[in-house]
Amino acid sequence: MNKKIPERKCLGCNARKQKNELIRVVRLKDGEVVLDKTGKVSGRGAYICPDINCYNKARKAKRFETNLEIAIPEEIYNSLAKKLEEDEKAGN
Ligand SMILES: [Zn+2]
Repeated sequence: MNKKIPERKCLGCNARKQKNELIRVVRLKDGEVVLDKTGKVSGRGAYICPDINCYNKARKAKRFETNLEIAIPEEIYNSLAKKLEEDEKAGN
C-alpha cells in the first residue's frame, strides 16, 4: 500500500526529504556532472532541493565536490544553475 520512499539529505539546507522531492546531481563514469531528474542515471549521486538557493549554498560550501569526490569546473556549475532556474520558471 504505502511504499516507503527513501529519504536523502539536501546538500544545501541539510533538510531530510523524500528522494523524489529532491534533485539528484550525478557524477558519471567519465567524470561529467549532470542533473538527474529520473533518479535512474547510474553514478555517484548527491541530492539538493529543487531550489536555486540550496544549490548555491551547496556550491559555495563545496559540498558537491566533497560528496561526489570530484573537482567541478565553473562552467558545469553554471550550466547546472541554469537548468535549475529554467525548471523553476517552468514550475516543475
Ligand atoms: Zn535544501
